[in-house]
Amino acid sequence: MGFTKAGKKAGNTGLSLLSLEPKPCPGISESDNARVGTYLKRTAAPGGSGHALGDIAKEMFNKFFSKLSKKKQNEVLNAQLHGHQWKNDHQRLRVFSTSCQKVTPNLPPNRPLPCKSCHKILTSKAFRVAIAKPTPLPKNQIYTNKRFRIQCWVNFTAGSLDSKTSLKLKYVNAP
Ligand SMILES: [Zn+2]
Repeated sequence: MGFTKAGKKAGNTGLSLLSLEPKPCPGISESDNARVGTYLKRTAAPGGSGHALGDIAKEMFNKFFSKLSKKKQNEVLNAQLHGHQWKNDHQRLRVFSTSCQKVTPNLPPNRPLPCKSCHKILTSKAFRVAIAKPTPLPKNQIYTNKRFRIQCWVNFTAGSLDSKTSLKLKYVNAP
């Protein structure tokens, strides 16, 4: 991507162009919308705004998702993943467009902003609807989709919960 070479070449022009070298796109974070963190803690989905599993299952196999074999369910899940418009980075609490441009203009002293593609996601209706959903109360999290619950448990226990709470979650989330 050439983050340094061109900048070094322009280094003796007084106003260093080093600062104008593009930065890696930081994706969408809580700095762009305070609800992004809440959204990523609430969902364990790898991305968003794809087609519904039921619709894909119908199209691919003309059956309900729940009636498919594990192998076919995995094919449907793969198809859904490829249809996502954004991907979730749960570790760093960031969201990236699946067509992220990878770099963004560097305009100090301002922080690097999401690239055009990520910004498009940030302002899209689908994303705004997704991040506006409230976090379910702990007692209702048992109704969260089973596939996601296992990942949620991994996320929860990777956090700072005490062992008693972790064990309780492990029990609640057991498949
Ligand atoms: Zn981007």
